[in-house]
Amino acid sequence: MDYDDRHRTFLQAVIQSGVILDQDAVVLCVKIFDEKIDISAIAARINDKLERLAMSMKAGICELTGNKYWSVVSTTHEETVKIPTELTQSQKMFLRSIYSEIIGGDGCISSTSCLNLCNSLETKFSMIEADRFLKHLIKQKWLYCKDGNIYMGVRSIIELMPYFRATYQDNFHNCFLCREVVFHGHKCDNCDEMCHYYCLIEYAKNRNIRKCPQCKHNLDISCITGNRYYYILHQ
Ligand SMILES: [Zn+2]
Ligand SMILES: [Zn+2]
Repeated sequence: MDYDDRHRTFLQAVIQSGVILDQDAVVLCVKIFDEKIDISAIAARINDKLERLAMSMKAGICELTGNKYWSVVSTTHEETVKIPTELTQSQKMFLRSIYSEIIGGDGCISSTSCLNLCNSLETKFSMIEADRFLKHLIKQKWLYCKDGNIYMGVRSIIELMPYFRATYQDNFHNCFLCREVVFHGHKCDNCDEMCHYYCLIEYAKNRNIRKCPQCKHNLDISCITGNRYYYILHQ
């Protein structure tokens, strides 16, 4: 299929959404193209055009829900990608400290500790402003909130990986199943390597003997068989 106005309309809608859930993109696609087409195929057509604008339509998976999302990201000098430029200086500093806490800790931070970060900023940022901004970040999927804890949001995962790599270098875990970066996931109790919960679910589905691919120790999968994780409830 050649690139035409329908691709343009689809692209515009994705850009306007910020991030769009894969299932919603499929519905949108049926509306615009009048047929069900694989979103990856549409993204490939769009990306042929976006390349010269140094942009790309990319997918990412939410670590908490296992849901796939699409977003349009800048590919200009990837190593210098900054956190959203439309933010004020204080908002950027606040968001940077949240990212540092999430990456330096267990992949999450309590919302109370998160709000308290505004006290340690070099610029003035009130608790009320911080609270309002935090809600905005969660709504826009830059962050994810569950049970009073704040996690890395899917939009940050899709758009800011070059920024995280440049800023935090090797302070990441790579999932031992898919090799992508994992901020919050399951840790093997023998070797401390990590994997995404959604990868572990797929892995456990297809195997009777579950061993850590890294250290061959038996993998404890009780974390994905209970109701602890939201996406388990939605499968
Ligand atoms: Zn993975
Ligand atoms: Zn292991």
